[in-house]
Amino acid sequence: MCGIVGFVGAQEAAPVLLDGLTRLEYRGYDSAGVAVVSPQYEIQVEKTKGYVKELSALIHGGADLHGTIGIGHTRWATHGAPSDVNSHPHLSEGGKFAVIHNGIIENYVEIKEFLINQGVTFRSETDSEVVAQLLEFYYNECHDFFEAVGRVLRRIEGAYALGMLCADCPDRIIAARKDAPLLLGYGEGENFIASDVTAIIKHTREVAYMEDGEVAVLTREGIEVFDALQQPVAKERHHIDWEVSAAEKGGYPHFMLKEIFEQPEALRRAISPRLKEGKIVFDDMKLTPEQIRAFTRVFIVACGSSYHVGMLGKYTLEHLTRRSVEVCLASEFRYADPIVDKNTLVIVISQSGETLDTMAALREAKARGAYILSIVNVVGSSIARESDDVLYTWAGPEIAVATTKAYSTQLAVLDMIGLVFGEALGTVDSAEYDEVVAELERLPEKMETVLKNHEDIQKYAAQHFNHNSIFFIGRNLDFALGLEGSLKLKEISYIHSEAYASGELKHGTISLIEEGTLVVALGTYGKLFDKALSNIIEVKARGADVLALTTEKHRAELEKTVSNVLTIPDTATMLLPSLGVVPLQLFAYYVALQRGCDIDKPRNLAKSVTVE
Ligand code: GLU
Repeated sequence: MCGIVGFVGAQEAAPVLLDGLTRLEYRGYDSAGVAVVSPQYEIQVEKTKGYVKELSALIHGGADLHGTIGIGHTRWATHGAPSDVNSHPHLSEGGKFAVIHNGIIENYVEIKEFLINQGVTFRSETDSEVVAQLLEFYYNECHDFFEAVGRVLRRIEGAYALGMLCADCPDRIIAARKDAPLLLGYGEGENFIASDVTAIIKHTREVAYMEDGEVAVLTREGIEVFDALQQPVAKERHHIDWEVSAAEKGGYPHFMLKEIFEQPEALRRAISPRLKEGKIVFDDMKLTPEQIRAFTRVFIVACGSSYHVGMLGKYTLEHLTRRSVEVCLASEFRYADPIVDKNTLVIVISQSGETLDTMAALREAKARGAYILSIVNVVGSSIARESDDVLYTWAGPEIAVATTKAYSTQLAVLDMIGLVFGEALGTVDSAEYDEVVAELERLPEKMETVLKNHEDIQKYAAQHFNHNSIFFIGRNLDFALGLEGSLKLKEISYIHSEAYASGELKHGTISLIEEGTLVVALGTYGKLFDKALSNIIEVKARGADVLALTTEKHRAELEKTVSNVLTIPDTATMLLPSLGVVPLQLFAYYVALQRGCDIDKPRNLAKSVTVE
């Protein structure tokens, strides 16, 4: 998720690592650290919560650490609060191994228990430390660094980019990758690993991208790469001719577009650790089925896009749990004298975990005795700390002001809450449960197919970026989805837009539809497809230009009425908005691009709203 850099060469490693980490700062992080092998073959680790400049001050710009091989890391906490001890690198108990890790080790609890039973003492709360401890455990058996790494990789599950040092093999770094970015940099008498090229572009532009399952051994002389069966792999090298600013965005022109395309990966991180043998299991939730059954009232409280996630959550939670769910804007809830008591569950949603209105609503609900379950992206944030229970979205840092991957992962987590609650209450149909779980597993892949069609949306945006006002219409889930599509467009393109429940048009707003008005008609919800079609015919009859979104199944039918039809793959009903939001994000992005807007930092907006 965050930053990795590793160096082996002839010069002092620490300043190279600090420089690399500074260049990775744009990715967002909460702590930083380095490990360098000393000339006496000892691994020295320095790490701290906070910025790279604080780490640099701690080790006097690197002057305190001598040695020509080392690894560095910027952490974005997923397991364990940001703190000095939870920062990477992690040292094994005997001090022989140092490890940096980006990603999530899904089966760390079981491995940790196993190692504790073997007498190993852990220092941190992270999932990552198991890698360092397990390496030492296997090394004590086989006395071979490479073989110990192989054994570790066969034992761990989840996503990882790993950089590893061994005091007994002070000439090499071993790196491994699965579902997290990692590349190799080829220099003259020096070699590198990095999570992206920005970290090393100053030293070399010759790189190779590691593939899932590959292991690389780096020495001063060269880099050898092996596949999962430990067979040598010949890597194709690439010459990077990007400028540093483009490299920061991984070649994308904006962080927002990069983050839109990161959504399948973010979803995998949010979903996969919670999917066990066809069931949703929240290892990280304290609520018991008895407690779930005892709630008499449920609120979802949030602001902005998180509130739109809540709007969708109302439909799915009510459907799955047969309990009524109220969705409230945090800024309203806090002053509304809400009917909340000790039998009330309040689900609060916030990307940053610092949103002031949401925080105030949380405190108000807590003071009235409610149980607080939060869905948050930033580990250790204020909302996470003050909640009774927190489910992290693990979307990774989001830099663009307009949220995309945080929204998608919040939605996936809320959908999973619905399933877990429905199961506890005995209200969810088991066939539907199985279907949704199977489709959750396929969701990242299906989202990738939606992203592949981005050029169709770009073309459409190029024709329609000049409107003064755009309507989004839909019913039920499609209405809630339209709210998010409309907000994205407003935030970054500054076009006035409204999301309307289609059935409400006749009660007022249809008077605004005239020749050439753009209406984005959402008709993904199969059960209400015919109704969506009637509303499209109504607005077309008044001159509207319609861009319609539906599923593959309904494409042909819709094309009889509308010439501009976008589609998403069919999936379980409650997951349709997770796919449907992607074309809407892309539409907003490409419209804003055509209008020359400052996409990543729209006027008057801030990423995390910490004022009322
Ligand atoms: N899961 C690890 C941790 O929380 C790594 C986080 C990261 O990718 O920075 O420490």
